[in-house]
Parts: sequence; C-alpha cells; structure tokens
Amino acid sequence: MYTIFMSASKTLFISDLHLQEDNTDSMRYFIEFLNNTAKDCEALYILGDFFEAYIGDDNQTNLLKNVALALKNLHEKHQTKIYLMHGNRDFLIGNEFAQLCGAKLLPDPVVIDLYGKKTLLTHGDSFCTQDKSYQFYRKIIRSTFVRFLLLSFPLSFRQKLALYLRNKSKKHVHQSPKAIMDVSKTTVLQAGTKHKVSQIIHGHTHKPQIHHENSTTRYVLPDWHPKGGMLSISSDGSIPELILWD
Ligand code: MN
Repeated sequence: MYTIFMSASKTLFISDLHLQEDNTDSMRYFIEFLNNTAKDCEALYILGDFFEAYIGDDNQTNLLKNVALALKNLHEKHQTKIYLMHGNRDFLIGNEFAQLCGAKLLPDPVVIDLYGKKTLLTHGDSFCTQDKSYQFYRKIIRSTFVRFLLLSFPLSFRQKLALYLRNKSKKHVHQSPKAIMDVSKTTVLQAGTKHKVSQIIHGHTHKPQIHHENSTTRYVLPDWHPKGGMLSISSDGSIPELILWD
C-alpha cells in the first residue's frame, strides 16, 4: 500500500504595510512573516501601499534594499511567486525594483484564476468613488505623463513633494466624512459584473472583513499597524482565512 500525500498549496495576500525607514517594528513583522509564514506558500501577492512613500527606483534606501533582499531570498529559496501591485502611496514602484525583489509588477486591477475561481485583485482606492476630489487627483497623478514628469524631477524635489502630498492626503482624510472614505458598494458590484469574477480581493480601506455581495465574495485586507494580517487561500477548496495578528 502506498499513501500519496498531496499537500495543498496556499496563496497569500497582504497589503498596506506602509513600511517606512523610521518604523522598525513593521519591518520586523514583515521579515518574521516572510521567514515563518510566507515560506510555505506558492505565491505571495502584495496589493499596494507596501511603502508609506515611494519616490522612484533610483531612491535606494536601506529599507528598500533590505525589503528587496528578503523577498528575493524567499523567491530563490522557496520558488515562491511574488507579485507587487501599486497602491496610492507607492505607485512609482518600477520594474527595476520589482526585479530586485524577484517579483512581477501587476497592473491594477487584474483578474487571475485562483484555484479555478476568477478573482479580481486591486489596491482598492479606485472603488472609493464617493470621494470625487480624490478620484480627480488620482486620474491626474496616475497618468503616464505625470508619472514620467515626476520621475524626471531630482530626488530631493520628489522627497519634498511626497511629504507635501502625504500631509495633504492626511488632511483630506481627516476633513472628509467617513462614509466617502470607504468603497462604493455600487462601484464594487459593477466591477464584479464587468470582470465576471466570483471573488474580489483588495486593501486600502484598512477595514479587514469578508463581505458577501450578491454572488461575489469580497475580501478586504488589513493594514499592518500595529501588527497586520493576511488572507490565505488554499488550493484544497477549504474556506479562505482572513487572519489578523493584532
Ligand atoms: Mn491605499
């Protein structure tokens, strides 16, 4: 008699780590996560706002070097597939940095086949359509031309601009009614119908939850402050787990 063990494979989703130089805690949690949790998965998706700020692949800080090294190590040692998606804070991540990480840069949104289920992945800010002024800003700042323009500025200027935009964004979030900071249910349903998916996975809102909307299940990922979490989906069809470590 032979027993064949078919171990199930897992795909993990994280977002909104908001890693930054002066917060060593979140970096430590991330490294722990890579060493203990992520090493057993076949694919890791990082769905945006991985960094609190990102001003271009030419800005090589210690934080970015360490992150790239750790991801590359995971990729090479365990053949883990790693995917990065832009968030509203780190949309200047380019292919150069992705390559250093051993990762592939994904467009936002993207539809994948996840163990037989059509799944829409997005950072999530494009779902916040009730926030009209943000959507206007997003359209401009994320255009190819502005991207090109931004990257042509000297690093020192980009640093100042990033700080200015971050402060402006904080003020905007603080002054706006809470409801418009969340996703629009209508926009979510439209996206589900348009892409004909049964699952949607996103971050951005920092409101981790599993929503059942019509025939679509929507998983909202947690941010990593103070401690973070992840969504784990297994190939064996078991119920996806939204895990919070706080
Ligand atoms: Mn975001």
